[in-house]
Amino acid sequence: MNKNIIAVNMGKGVALGLKLFNFGSGTSMPGIVAKKIAPKILSDLVNQTRKEIITVTGTNGKTTTANFVSAILKTAGRKVAHNTRGANMLTGVTTAMIESANCFAKLDADNSVLESDEAYLKVFADYFSADYLLVTNLFRDQLDRYGELDTTAKMIKTAIEKFKNRSENFTVILNADDPGLQSLADEKSLFFGFEDIKFAFEHKKSQGETATCSCGKDFEYSKIYYGHIGHYYCSCGKRRPDTFLKATAEIFVEHSVLYIKNPLTGEEFSVVVNMPGVYNAYNALGAITLAVKIGIASEDIINSFDGYKTVFGRAESCVLQGKNAIIQLIKNPVGAGEVLQTVCDDKSAKILIIINDDYADGRDVSWLWDANFELLKDYGKSIIVSGVRYADMAVRLKYAGIKPDNIVIEPDLKKAVKLALKNTFPDEKLYIMPTYTALLKMQKFIKNL
Ligand SMILES: [Zn+2]
Repeated sequence: MNKNIIAVNMGKGVALGLKLFNFGSGTSMPGIVAKKIAPKILSDLVNQTRKEIITVTGTNGKTTTANFVSAILKTAGRKVAHNTRGANMLTGVTTAMIESANCFAKLDADNSVLESDEAYLKVFADYFSADYLLVTNLFRDQLDRYGELDTTAKMIKTAIEKFKNRSENFTVILNADDPGLQSLADEKSLFFGFEDIKFAFEHKKSQGETATCSCGKDFEYSKIYYGHIGHYYCSCGKRRPDTFLKATAEIFVEHSVLYIKNPLTGEEFSVVVNMPGVYNAYNALGAITLAVKIGIASEDIINSFDGYKTVFGRAESCVLQGKNAIIQLIKNPVGAGEVLQTVCDDKSAKILIIINDDYADGRDVSWLWDANFELLKDYGKSIIVSGVRYADMAVRLKYAGIKPDNIVIEPDLKKAVKLALKNTFPDEKLYIMPTYTALLKMQKFIKNL
């Protein structure tokens, strides 16, 4: 029997076993087993994709963006192979491909949508060719793993060169409003960004990182939306590039509305994104830009956002023990700052913050000091802190100006969630902000509290 067939069926068997015996979500084990049996299984499966192979990377929002892309394609009637659960290293992607393959190791997918960790993307390029790479943004993230921003941009650049060598159709789609991505562009690249963004409430801009032009000067901005994202220019002539679609957005506390115009066809449409935060408006716009580029009809795009369900921990609204809650992963200063902004805009907010420092969280929690917890200074209600690094978080809040009486410590994660729910009134909303491994732990008990 063909090695691939054995690998796929072994992988499927392992996935089923993990599910039956309730051993976690099983996002990498089937891939590990299959890869051992047939080292080329990933290449062989991905390369059977009937239409576009799409990769997505970037610091923040890659999971949400890839999910948006996948949802749009499915609404348009396409079959999609997708590493949906944010398992974005080789074994996770292999597992996703095995799920979309039949027992003869034939992939049944019109599109593959593959989210990749920034550092892993260049490894992906050794296994398969891609038609598109969408890059959401680059922020300082998990410094201990990847070093500085430039290093991350260089790793992505290496991947781009490899993908270009594999296929001349390969096209990069970049956030026009992020100056840190411009070194990745070539003459074929497409850009997405907002001409203007209106906030339906007073929007305190989170403290941005400065972005530096390749000539060495700091960029100037005519508009800045969050972090270093906005309309930038430099006296040397470098500036924000023109975008493929012309888009504006209105940001409300719990959703946003995007107004989109395709200058090539003159078509105009609007999309409602039922997720909070300007960053999710960007994630949606990136996905929409790619969808329009590959010829998906605007009705399908609009409908997919109407029916979109969030993924656990990515601004997921839920009801826990009869209380309204929203779970939002935090992992770096800018991302956390944007979540905190949303919390401040919501007068009914209660807060639980859970900080772990396992490998997947980044071992170094010094990023907490760069996140704008000062936004909570006038919040006035108690804030519960938990997780392995609850003490660091409590100290950080104290320095942000929160009264020690308002900082409640509960190191045990499950107890902390229960306490927070108990303290949330029916007309209030609990914002739970976990780091990655805290999120995974929560996922195991949250439905059976
Ligand atoms: Zn310059």
